Amino acid sequence: MNPEKAYAELVRLSRDETVLSSCVDLLEWDQEIYMPRDGVEHRSDQSALLAGLVHDRGTNPRYGELLSAIEGSDFISDPDSPEAVNVRELRRGYDRDCKIPRRLVQELARATARASKVWAQARKENDFKSFAPWLDKVFALSREEADAVGHNGDRYDALLEDYEPGMTAEKLSALFTRLSADLVPLVDSLRGQEAPPNVLEGNFDLDRQRVFTDSIVSAMGFDFDGGRFDLAQHPFCTMIGPGDVRIGTRYFQNHIGRGIFAGLHEAGHALYEQGLDRAHYGTPMGEAVSLGIHESQSRLWENLVGRSEGFWLHFYPQLQGSFHEAFQDVSLETFRRAVNRVEPHLIRVEADEVTYNLHIIVRFELERALLSGDLAAADVPGAWNEAYQRYLGVTPKDDRSGCLQDIHWADGLIGYFPTYSLGNVFSAQIFSAAEAAIGPLEDAFAEGEFLELRRWLGDNIHRHGMRYRSEALIERVTGNSPDPSALIESLSQRYRSNAGTSAGRA
Ligand code: ZN
Repeated sequence: MNPEKAYAELVRLSRDETVLSSCVDLLEWDQEIYMPRDGVEHRSDQSALLAGLVHDRGTNPRYGELLSAIEGSDFISDPDSPEAVNVRELRRGYDRDCKIPRRLVQELARATARASKVWAQARKENDFKSFAPWLDKVFALSREEADAVGHNGDRYDALLEDYEPGMTAEKLSALFTRLSADLVPLVDSLRGQEAPPNVLEGNFDLDRQRVFTDSIVSAMGFDFDGGRFDLAQHPFCTMIGPGDVRIGTRYFQNHIGRGIFAGLHEAGHALYEQGLDRAHYGTPMGEAVSLGIHESQSRLWENLVGRSEGFWLHFYPQLQGSFHEAFQDVSLETFRRAVNRVEPHLIRVEADEVTYNLHIIVRFELERALLSGDLAAADVPGAWNEAYQRYLGVTPKDDRSGCLQDIHWADGLIGYFPTYSLGNVFSAQIFSAAEAAIGPLEDAFAEGEFLELRRWLGDNIHRHGMRYRSEALIERVTGNSPDPSALIESLSQRYRSNAGTSAGRA
């Protein structure tokens, strides 16, 4: 087969598959935002039918023939060319899909649907015992999946590959050991810090919160002609296609911080999607690198931009204008300290940016032990509580606020948690590289100027799609391999000075 023709057909197959799967995404978006409750049954029929079609296309043997025709020729010379990247990544996805037997795919889907239901009930009733057999079942099936995909002795690597291609458990373990060695003492040193007045709680009009958040994401460069913001039960961001990136977010009447920062977080994801190269839509060159890199974009805007002094120098007067009663007597410094408050507690999704990574390290340790068989599901509550005491100095009073808090394992998402912390690690490295290239950014933020940072991220990260794996991309952009020092330095600098000015004590 002529390799050029084979490549053209390969791109067509990949585009068609992506377009079809974007219809599933649109149905899911509608289900979150608009669908009436009674539509759920017909919607699951629609989604299941389309998901089956997407799966059939993904495992079409024609992929194998076309890929072999290209790989056996001298059609590709430069390993970083779009053609090489597309062939490399399509081969990876195709092989993976073909290696997992259809029976296992269906069994996983059934078991995780059931396990998620049992988990929701168990969490409500604080009854871990009823969930334990399902947790064992999900991990047993995940072991089967890892073995089907193949690995070099560590099954965890095979699962991780799905979310963070190229990353391994060993590398993660080394990175997290360094991260926790510095984070635990940092958290300890902040423990005695006088808590800032909690000015984020009160009564805040939801519409005004939405208008204020819209003005922030406009300043960040979110393109409202190529995207939407809607109200949803849980924050999310989904790309339907070029020119159509949608965010769902939620505001809380009694807390002004949660909605704004969730909006900034999702907008960070959306800028990445809007910054992908449209010419490559439907192929790996037009897709995000990994979950870790995706999360680095959301965390960068949420934490490194959104919690900075410069950012609030610009936006706080507007916030005071919108919520005059709540903030007329609150100084900028008091407000800034309130959005930078550190306090170890039990719930991951409510954690501040300093303690957050310790929540992830606990989950990484436990899911590795569960997968290897060193830990049985029945022993999870004890292991969980011990790890929380060791890393965060707190012990859950029940499993609801302990090992039953996250849906991920019930949903079969094993190897997913670490990408949250990788995102934090990468975000600090990327932000520091951006400042090295552009100059200090806080002064620009104080002027309401965010577009230069957005452009730099677009040039250095977004437009490359999957050209480089996450580690290679970080090395290219920052000059260093993935490394927690930038995050530790950034957190120490910002939070230690916080403690110093607030309490004025050693
Ligand atoms: Zn995110």
